[in-house]
Amino acid sequence: MRLVKNSGKNKILLGYDQARHRIRKEIFDTLRRENLSLDMMSIPCHSCGSKNVRSIEIRERKRKGEVKVLKCQNCGRKFVDNLLRSHLDFSTIATILELTSQFRSPSLIVRELEKRGMRISKPSIYSVLTKAVEVLIEFEEIVTFFEPTYLVIDDSPQKISRGKVWITNLIDAKSRYWLACVVSQTRSLDASLEAIRRSEPLLQSAPSYIKSDGYQGHIKAIKELGLKSVYATKKENYGIVNEIESLHSWIRSHLPKEAVFKTESSLKTFLEILRFKHNFFREIGGKTPAQRVGIPFKPSMGWKFLLKIAIWAVAEYRASEKRMELGI
Ligand SMILES: [Zn+2]
Repeated sequence: MRLVKNSGKNKILLGYDQARHRIRKEIFDTLRRENLSLDMMSIPCHSCGSKNVRSIEIRERKRKGEVKVLKCQNCGRKFVDNLLRSHLDFSTIATILELTSQFRSPSLIVRELEKRGMRISKPSIYSVLTKAVEVLIEFEEIVTFFEPTYLVIDDSPQKISRGKVWITNLIDAKSRYWLACVVSQTRSLDASLEAIRRSEPLLQSAPSYIKSDGYQGHIKAIKELGLKSVYATKKENYGIVNEIESLHSWIRSHLPKEAVFKTESSLKTFLEILRFKHNFFREIGGKTPAQRVGIPFKPSMGWKFLLKIAIWAVAEYRASEKRMELGI
């Protein structure tokens, strides 16, 4: 929490931050190494957080790929190397993410996987995408941490098969890092507030101001958080939220035409994957927004690598909390 002063739990926050800084450094070092070896990043024990873990078997499962079984040398527990709690194997999950980021609908993905000899249902695809997004967001809070310039907030309506929702977006102007994407039933102060609050763990300091088109919900939210607001209506200054308009048109041009989004929650999941695609894979002027904020991830490393490193970071972060609790 950086925009809003947070008294009280200071001690815990400090501990959390130390772990976060250490893991971020380890990830950046790995990303900068020419020869990337993911095996160097072993998953710590789920029960006690110990790093002294050995792989004891690889279980092959019919049509669903393999899982690695690990044994902790500290507490003796056996566990499956599967932070995503999915019955699908890692490569399949990465393929689903990759296909989704190429704007394929779940029905198309089902057919695509069938061609590769895998029978996976549409609900399984939705479920694993939701879990992958959870991990990616937790990972983002570990790796993304930068000094913003000013931010731009804007919303736009989106049709779904059961009506209309609003998408509220927040970006950093200079890096074009897409900080938050909130889907809500109505245009509201709460949506604006939530978008700004979600950016808190990603920012090293408060932005100098937040720019908007003058919608009252944005202005009230910015004021409520004690930040400076700059605005003009689109009539007064047509280009006032240019930075975000180009993002909106990119999103619109990539939303699958078919009625994929029956629900708010499937739209949310898809938009989060799009957000990661924009931040980590979309080069704007030769650099991705993630690279602009100092994350040495190259788009050529691919979704599989991004997911792998995210899983490692999140497992290591959770384990470091366990180690702290248990004092090991
Ligand atoms: Zn253990």
